[in-house]
Amino acid sequence: MARASRERGGPPPRRRSPRIDALGYVAAATQVPSPNCDDRPPETVLTLIVLHGISLPPGRFGGDAIERLFTNRLDPDAHPYFASIARLRVSSHFLIRRAGELLQFVPCSARAWHAGESTWRGSARCNDFSIGVELEGSDATPYTAAQYRRLGALLRMLAAHYGIRDVAGHSDIAPGRKTDPGPCFDWRRVPPLDGPA
Ligand SMILES: [Zn+2]
Repeated sequence: MARASRERGGPPPRRRSPRIDALGYVAAATQVPSPNCDDRPPETVLTLIVLHGISLPPGRFGGDAIERLFTNRLDPDAHPYFASIARLRVSSHFLIRRAGELLQFVPCSARAWHAGESTWRGSARCNDFSIGVELEGSDATPYTAAQYRRLGALLRMLAAHYGIRDVAGHSDIAPGRKTDPGPCFDWRRVPPLDGPA
C-alpha cells in the first residue's frame, strides 16, 4: 500500500498512532486484559495516580505470577503463598517490571481494583477516581533506574492526557493497612506534574 501511494506521487500520509487512545489504552504497553474492572461512576474526573509495589511470591522478582493474579489465572498450588491470594479479584491499570517493561491490564477509562478501602483528600474509594500503577518490587529493595525512567514517562503522559496532578503511594491512601511502594521508593525521582507535557 505504501509503495502504491508513493508511486502516485508524494509520501504516504503519516499517521502517528496516539500514545494513549480515547479509552485510555497506552500504545507503548503490552496489553494483558484483566476481567477485574468495571465502570467508573458517571462524570468521574481522574485526579490521582496511585503507586504500588508488588512481587509474587513476596520478595521474588521475575516470573508471571503478577500477570496471573491480575487475570485470575494464579495457580494456588504453585507456591504456598499463592493459596492465600489466588481467589482475590484484583488488578491495576499498569505494571512496570524490573527491567522497565510496561504492561497494561485495564484501560484508564475503566475502574481497576487496586486501592481497596482508601481515602485521598477527603474522598473515599480511590479506585473510582485514580489510575493504579504497580512497580515490581518490595519494601526492602530499591527500585531500578529502568523503572523510574518508565514511570516518569508514564506519569507525564497520563498527567498531560487527563490533567492529573496528584501522585500518592498506596501507603498514603490506606495508612496502617498498606506499606507499598515502601521506604525504598525514592519520591524525589517522581517528576513534578504541574508543567507542560
Ligand atoms: Zn498496593
